[in-house]
Amino acid sequence: MKTPLILKSIDELKKWRSELRGSLGLVPTMGALHAGHLSLIQSSIAQNSHTLLSIFVNPTQFGANEDFDKYPRNLESDIALAQGVDAIFAPEISEMYSSQDEITLNPPKLMGYVYEGFHREGHFDGVLQIVLKLFSLSLANKAYFGQKDAQQLLIIQKMVKDFFLPIQIVPCPIVRDNDGLALSSRNIYLSETQRKTALKIPQTLQKIKILIQDGEQETAKLYAFGMQELQGLQVDYLAFCDHSLREIPLIIPNQTLILLTARVGNTRLLDNLWL
Ligand code: AMP
Repeated sequence: MKTPLILKSIDELKKWRSELRGSLGLVPTMGALHAGHLSLIQSSIAQNSHTLLSIFVNPTQFGANEDFDKYPRNLESDIALAQGVDAIFAPEISEMYSSQDEITLNPPKLMGYVYEGFHREGHFDGVLQIVLKLFSLSLANKAYFGQKDAQQLLIIQKMVKDFFLPIQIVPCPIVRDNDGLALSSRNIYLSETQRKTALKIPQTLQKIKILIQDGEQETAKLYAFGMQELQGLQVDYLAFCDHSLREIPLIIPNQTLILLTARVGNTRLLDNLWL
């Protein structure tokens, strides 16, 4: 296994990029790597001549009352986990945001202000800003994003389409722990009891999936069932929508997304099903 080169500055990244031959896959992350991130990395390694992992806790996508300060940061152990990537781009904030008065981006009106966009004001503006910077700097051929952050993935795909960006977005399936909880860097905030409560999230999604397989198509009924199952959790939203994030009255095969976000203590947990 090769040990990754650590690139801290934009100049180092540009120099490294200019010397590459063959295709480049980019895996953007905020670090605190887990097996979900590693699956994105493995897909990129399998599909490209080179893989660049970025690790950057992006301040512009966090709201004022969110966990930016306490978000887990473990660069040393991340480097050890990311064996096999060619380089890791891990810049300081000042490197990525050098001006006080930058151009910003807004997500699309219909997709960007519902669900996460409603609960986390300005979140997708920050995501699009950093992702576009990473695309411009890396000149990657492909970029890997998890289906776990379904709305983020769909909005980034839309940015690529709307701005004709010369990059292909590769969606990657959700990786779960043995107990079914979707892996997340934020799971470390959960106590043992909270984790048990959190398991209702994937369990409810699975039960909804079984009801659909058994023939239930009406989303109002599936919603009522789901909310009943989720009693005791603070549900931010349980939504049945298509891949443009429009709510649907009936399940549409291969075009349905079921989004579920709930808070356990102070921790917000996202999960979803692509059907
Ligand atoms: P983050 O570090 O949380 O910003 O995530 C970086 C990338 O990893 C995003 O594209 C996420 O959707 C993806 N990701 C996070 N958790 C998982 C998971 N459990 N399974 C698959 N992808 C994930």
